[in-house]
Amino acid sequence: MQRRNTLQRLRVKEAIDVLGHPTSDELILYMNKTHPDVSLATIYRNLSILLEDGAVIKLKLGNSNIYEAVKEKHYHFVCRECKNIIDIPLDKMNEIMIPKEIMDNQIVDHDFVFFGYCKNCKKNIIWKEDEKNEEVCM
Ligand SMILES: [Zn+2]
Ligand SMILES: [Zn+2]
Repeated sequence: MQRRNTLQRLRVKEAIDVLGHPTSDELILYMNKTHPDVSLATIYRNLSILLEDGAVIKLKLGNSNIYEAVKEKHYHFVCRECKNIIDIPLDKMNEIMIPKEIMDNQIVDHDFVFFGYCKNCKKNIIWKEDEKNEEVCM
């Protein structure tokens, strides 16, 4: 039993690796296709164990939660049109200034998410932004 559980957890982890930044719906869809024998409850159970173990992290990007296998610290760019998520390595970012309002606190982590339109979508999409008065999400 233990062994079977481990195998299923590995499959969930593999699926996240392959998909990159799946939502839970995308993960379930993929698992149903590749491993139809693994039940929904099993997927959720293994996902929460992976989160607890720190092998997978859950990120809130805009309106959706995505899952990602833990790798080196990086940031994300999210395309609002095709929902494509691009990883931005840390070394591509300039030094980050810590605002003086929080300087006295112990900072353990931080995150940035860029929202916009990817190069494929931007040609067709630019006009949409003018119509909406959107707040900047950071
Ligand atoms: Zn796009
Ligand atoms: Zn990522």
